[in-house]
Amino acid sequence: MKRYLSLLLLVVFAALQTSAQQRPMDAAQLQLALKKLNVVGSALYVAAHPDDENTALLAWWSNDRLYRTGYLALTRGDGGQNLIGDEKGELLGLIRTQELLAARRIDGAEQMFSRALDFGFSKNPEETLAIWGHDRILADVVWAIRKFQPDVIVTRFPTTGEGGHGHHTSSAILAVEAFKIAGDPTKFPEQLKYVTPWQPKRLFWNRFSWQQIDPNDPKVAKDVRIDLGTFNPLLGRAYTEIAAESRSQHKSQGFGSAERRGTTINYFAQLDGEPAAKDLFEGIDTTWSRYPGGEPLGKLLQQASDNFDPKAPEKSIPALLDAAELLDRLGARPEWSPKLHPWIDVKRNELNRVIAGCAGLAIDVSAAEASVIAGHDIKVSVSVINRSDYPFILQTVGSRDATPSVGVGKKLADNVPLKTDVTIHVPADAPISQPYWLRKPAMKGSFVVDDQELIGRPENPPALPLIITLVDDRMHTLFFTVPIVYRWTDPVRGELTREVDVVPDVVTNIANKVYLFPDAKPKQVVLRAKSYSGAGDAVVKLTVPQGWSVTPESVPVTFKQQGDEVRAMFTVTPPAAESEALAQAGVGQAPSPVPPSPVHSVTDIEYPHIPPQRVFGEGTAKLIRIDVKKKGTRIGYIMGSGDEVPEGLRQMGYEVNMLTDDDLERGNFAGYDAIVTGVRAYNTRKRLKLDTPKLLEWVKNGGTYVVQYNTTSGLLLESPGPYPFKITGDRVTVEEAPVTFLKPDHPLLVTPNKITQKDFEGWVQERGVYFTNDWDPKYETVISSHDPGESDKAGGELYTRYGKGVYVYTGYDWFRELPAGVPGAYRLFANLVSAK
Ligand SMILES: [Zn+2]
Repeated sequence: MKRYLSLLLLVVFAALQTSAQQRPMDAAQLQLALKKLNVVGSALYVAAHPDDENTALLAWWSNDRLYRTGYLALTRGDGGQNLIGDEKGELLGLIRTQELLAARRIDGAEQMFSRALDFGFSKNPEETLAIWGHDRILADVVWAIRKFQPDVIVTRFPTTGEGGHGHHTSSAILAVEAFKIAGDPTKFPEQLKYVTPWQPKRLFWNRFSWQQIDPNDPKVAKDVRIDLGTFNPLLGRAYTEIAAESRSQHKSQGFGSAERRGTTINYFAQLDGEPAAKDLFEGIDTTWSRYPGGEPLGKLLQQASDNFDPKAPEKSIPALLDAAELLDRLGARPEWSPKLHPWIDVKRNELNRVIAGCAGLAIDVSAAEASVIAGHDIKVSVSVINRSDYPFILQTVGSRDATPSVGVGKKLADNVPLKTDVTIHVPADAPISQPYWLRKPAMKGSFVVDDQELIGRPENPPALPLIITLVDDRMHTLFFTVPIVYRWTDPVRGELTREVDVVPDVVTNIANKVYLFPDAKPKQVVLRAKSYSGAGDAVVKLTVPQGWSVTPESVPVTFKQQGDEVRAMFTVTPPAAESEALAQAGVGQAPSPVPPSPVHSVTDIEYPHIPPQRVFGEGTAKLIRIDVKKKGTRIGYIMGSGDEVPEGLRQMGYEVNMLTDDDLERGNFAGYDAIVTGVRAYNTRKRLKLDTPKLLEWVKNGGTYVVQYNTTSGLLLESPGPYPFKITGDRVTVEEAPVTFLKPDHPLLVTPNKITQKDFEGWVQERGVYFTNDWDPKYETVISSHDPGESDKAGGELYTRYGKGVYVYTGYDWFRELPAGVPGAYRLFANLVSAK
């Protein structure tokens, strides 16, 4: 049997991954997993965003039918709004990626993505596909099908537009096109280096309707019907209950879901493939017998499943190891190569997990530090325990870059941990741990990924995998690839882990992303440098382009220890004329004649429901010199779901105080020149329902109250202003859409800044969202805008004088434009808060 070993090493090292985060299985899950080993059918769900997927269907496929189940979300949800913090764009996409992975850990499906970027709301698929690049994203859907090899594909949305969002309709259009060509070797032949053409059997649309579907509607007469509300006694839950828990992981979207119980019929309209009347998988053999040579393996797995004893799961290990050996032998045949046959790796991985579960096997890998620098060493403690009497031997602990481990080659006695330490030498050319799709600047509609094999993956492969092998006395071998993690104990949350990242020596964050110079006066810019390497001296520098100046030239700093953070202060003087520029942070060795080189900045994202995420940036900040006049000095800000507008106001020179619920309750707003509500404040700040009359009273007495956009669902007050208006779903999604000045002499357009069309140039993502209609005639409208082919919308901004003060509702996109450093947005917003 030894001859398989070297062969196996080749196959298995590349593929197997057992995440340390995966929980060991209990006896009921083991029983289900044993049955699943014998199912070789797979289903793929296709839609556009995190949250589009039907989690009940995913849970049912994965846990009832026991299919390999995948969700291909074309985007990572970068363009949405964030209900739990102020991350936007790619950072929000990273959070939503992890929320999807958290959901998949619950419903049992796998997660895939395309390179498509969620660029915000799109009203039609023509626009979406033009921005995404039709061929590029079609290639990715074809790639996903060829890699996953689904028997059946189901789309969430129809191709005909009822899904509303242009991304939704596009996801269905691309699924339909990809279904037709994935099996054609002349289409995207460059992929065939890694995958083989694959023709799925059937394609369906998972019919949905904004109303309840009538089972007697002739339109649904031919649909396949599935009850997704059935109960799984081994899991103790219905698929609709699992679905609610899975869907509730979409916390950044506020999609906590109620658990439904009882029959839940879903309808599936066939779009392509062999006709089916009763079942999506009609006539598809999902047993090992479907493949030549697979039958004996199926029989062996069936026996293992039949003989499973929940009170003594270790009795199943010998049969499962025999099955693993048979699987490896199949995998060694050319017609079963992993390129042609994903099942080999998928089932070997499942088998490893089941065997580990039957043996009560646990592998703890714990690094001495949470991060490491390329070229450095990191010490790792490994503890392996076998809670069964099966005679496993811990054979090796290591990796390509590890020193030989000590204390291995020993038998793993029942319930006795075997500990060993290894030192990993991280190669000098190891890349920093940047999410792979963010390594290069994105195009407008898609990420740039050079490595074909990374496309589709939800996240990076582990930066520092450790490979652990176990053998038994019959030379059966088990390989586990475990990411190296750092462990710590939080007093409230208990034991936590994070994957060890490869990081640069030093990172330097410029305190703000945008510096506005509303006049020619100099401003202070703070840099924060952090050393990942250890004690030492350095110089920190800020580089600005010609016309701008900075003092001092560089600042010497001393890091006392690893993880030390130091501040360096610079004074930046703008040119007299308008100018936009980029400031770049740099770090050099001290004393050194060599000019400091640019450094990365870092953003750490930490929320309790997802693993910690780290993203490296360019270490730059935008400098804007533009005349912005303002009135008043103090602003009270009522934060909603989270935005960075307060920083934008500070950049204009305002003092901004965040108003608490107690401040609202007290109702003493004296001393504020203006009060501004953050985005969705009337959706999230419950106190506003009671305290808005106090705010309006303050307006009556001369205050200026600016209300930014709120969504229509869960609105605390139907019209949060002194006179009625209605908030709608109207939006202008094209960021270049022309803006008409309805009242060119209106104060909002002339005081204190004279607004011109130039101020609407360079906007990002969209013009605005949740515009109003049916407003009381006491409101004035000042500007209007609309998407191509639509009627003009004046309800994006309402203005009225109320008593001695001013009230403004604005759906324009300040929360995106100010942090993006759009100069005109500062001048426009200054006029809103200066309105008297
Ligand atoms: Zn969606």
